[in-house]
Amino acid sequence: MAEILKQIQNLIKGEIKDDSATLGLFSTDASFYKVWPRAVVYPKDVADIQAVVKFAAQEKAAGRDISLTARGAGTDMSGGALGQSLILSLPKYFNRIRSFGQDFVVAEAGVFYRDLEKEASTRNLLLPSFPASKEICTVGGMVANNSGGELNLQYGKTERYVRELKMVCSDGQEYLFKPLSALELKKKQQKDGFEGGLYRQLFELVDKNYDLLKAAKPEVSKNSAGYYLWNVYDRQTGIFDPTQLLVGSQGTLGVITEIKFGLVEPRLHERLVVIFLNDLQQIPNVVGKLLKFNPQSIESYDDKTFRLAIKLLPDIVARLKGGIFKLLFGFLPELWMALTGGIPKLVLLAEFSGDSEREAGAIARQAQESLKEFNLKTKLIDSPADAEKYWIIRRESFNMLRHHVRGMRTAPFIDDFVVRPEALGEFLPKLYPILNKYNLTYTIAGHVGDGNFHIIPLIKLKDPKAAEMVKNLGKEVYDLVFAYKGSMSGEHNDGLVRSHYLQQMYGPAVYKLFEQTKKIFDPQDIFNPGKKVNSSFEYSQQHLDI
Ligand SMILES: Cc1cc2nc3c(=O)[nH]c(=O)nc-3n(C[C@H](O)[C@H](O)[C@H](O)COP(=O)(O)OP(=O)(O)OC[C@H]3O[C@@H](n4cnc5c(N)ncnc54)[C@H](O)[C@@H]3O)c2cc1C
Repeated sequence: MAEILKQIQNLIKGEIKDDSATLGLFSTDASFYKVWPRAVVYPKDVADIQAVVKFAAQEKAAGRDISLTARGAGTDMSGGALGQSLILSLPKYFNRIRSFGQDFVVAEAGVFYRDLEKEASTRNLLLPSFPASKEICTVGGMVANNSGGELNLQYGKTERYVRELKMVCSDGQEYLFKPLSALELKKKQQKDGFEGGLYRQLFELVDKNYDLLKAAKPEVSKNSAGYYLWNVYDRQTGIFDPTQLLVGSQGTLGVITEIKFGLVEPRLHERLVVIFLNDLQQIPNVVGKLLKFNPQSIESYDDKTFRLAIKLLPDIVARLKGGIFKLLFGFLPELWMALTGGIPKLVLLAEFSGDSEREAGAIARQAQESLKEFNLKTKLIDSPADAEKYWIIRRESFNMLRHHVRGMRTAPFIDDFVVRPEALGEFLPKLYPILNKYNLTYTIAGHVGDGNFHIIPLIKLKDPKAAEMVKNLGKEVYDLVFAYKGSMSGEHNDGLVRSHYLQQMYGPAVYKLFEQTKKIFDPQDIFNPGKKVNSSFEYSQQHLDI
């Protein structure tokens, strides 16, 4: 290996490292897997990535085992950012915002979302598909996972905002991908070499299987599972848009270097209604009612998250802006609930926006009143500062669990399924008995308005039965999700944890098309192998870090 590392170092201007501290850092992401890479490459520019891809292709052709896993901030919850060969880490050098236009930004893939958000906000612009991890993730990771977040109801996921992107492909060249008219597609197909072949084969695949693919699209408002082949070609408009396949492809088709994102002007006035639910069976009706008022978010967190937040109050207060005593005072109602045993089973956050404070307030008030028939405790929040404490608890729910529960660890493996909100009334009463059978501690948070649930079990460290439980509970939950035509992942993607369910979710015919897609882009299986296709459940189980 040392010889290979030297050869790579000689090819690039960036660095390559294989010391144990670096490898340790890159052996985990936010999933519950651990995979030790052989080395971490920090490419300095596109030419470096091209050189490493060409080198890997040569090595692979010579029969040596080598692969490349692109990585942003490593906050992936599915094991997607892990690889046992070379990791290409982008944030160190690919961190420039190239340019802003009236309604777009061009950024390198390793730019942190928080930096882009700051720059965009000075122009009254927003990339609204940000995840709860917006302070710690990169925009390249958001594209590769097709991330979404609390504003999904109103604005949709990252796929909606990718206008163009550049990617280094398996032939070692960087290409620009964007929506093409029929004429533009024809020109691409006439090209020689890799690019022409790619457009010819991909078009043939989506055109020949048009009806099968359109029918395969999950009937939910958000999906990150699989390759979104159904979104590539529209016979009515004639538009062929390969970006819609590359988004969400988890680094399995190439290394994304630069993205042009469309941006929106955010509606500046928001008003939050907080709803305290004690009976989870009420979720479908309450959510159904709220959706009529066109909220920009309906988010949730459960009683266990609530208790943890109270326990960690000093940490949370430290992250909020404002005087410490005022903030602590703001949490008195929550402390009181905790002391008197009045913590609700689920807190729902329904946020409404408008062009004026009056408009946002009026809609929020109407929505709150519409819930009277359910006899629930609700609160219309007066100020953005008061709203912030609820948002911090929601956004931090997973992070709090990851870092603060002693002797246990988070096990995200049923963490992201989606079913249509209308089906929740039937679905949830079937889900709870399955969860209860396993006698687990788990938290529920998520984007209830989209029917997207983040259920995070906590596993005792070194529990010998944990791997079996992951296998059995995972299967039971996904069998149920698929029976309701849901998706196993609304936003966190497939990675090591779910790729082996793709065949079951989409059926063998569509899965075959996924395999063909991978072959078209990456015939030697260089990019992030074992994710999406050619996955192995045994491999994942062997790499559980529990
Ligand atoms: C506390 C917490 C909360 C979260 N909340 C949400 C949420 O609300 N919504 C949500 O969608 N996700 C959420 N996530 C998951 C994760 O943060 C997002 O998917 C995020 O966008 C990943 O960005 P990253 O930079 O960390 O990517 P990484 O983890 O580094 O990579 C993610 C995937 O993209 C690939 N990749 C990265 N960069 C490139 C590139 N340049 N070219 C090709 N492939 C690439 C990687 O190989 C990997 O498969 C959360 C995670 C945490 C820890």
